[in-house]
Amino acid sequence: PLDKEELGKNTWSFLHTMAAYYPDEPSEKQKCQMKSFFRNFAMFYPCHICAEHFQEDIKLIPPEVSNADDLSKWLCFMHNRVNLRLGKEEFDCSRVRERWKDGWKD
Ligand code: FAD
Repeated sequence: PLDKEELGKNTWSFLHTMAAYYPDEPSEKQKCQMKSFFRNFAMFYPCHICAEHFQEDIKLIPPEVSNADDLSKWLCFMHNRVNLRLGKEEFDCSRVRERWKDGWKD
């Protein structure tokens, strides 16, 4: 079984990659689907304390689904809230595309 750390790392990889490949011009249907995805995801994420936090956070700061860039920035911001809570370093969200789609430039 995965521990909380391994599950987290793998899940963030999936979520950031999904956000990076979200359309630049999503349809209204896709916007609704992405919002529901995060609401549902937060209900079933298999780390109870993480799921509770994430449900709260999503209520406070709902997903920004207008395009890939906004969704990626939003997710980066949400991940940084978790980083902060866990005493981890803040990630520079201007580099999120480089990290999760294009690859590091250096
Ligand atoms: P991770 O935080 O898993 O990050 C993986 C990689 O993503 C990093 O190496 C870095 O390259 C990149 N990255 C880091 N920050 C960002 C960012 N802001 N934007 C884009 N990329 C970034 N653990 C708990 O103990 N308590 C919780 O309440 C909790 N809530 C969670 C909620 C969710 C939705 C998820 C998916 C995970 C949660 N976790 C929680 C797990 C926690 O966030 C980490 O995944 C885990 O501690 C392992 O951390 P890590 O240092 O390996 O890097």
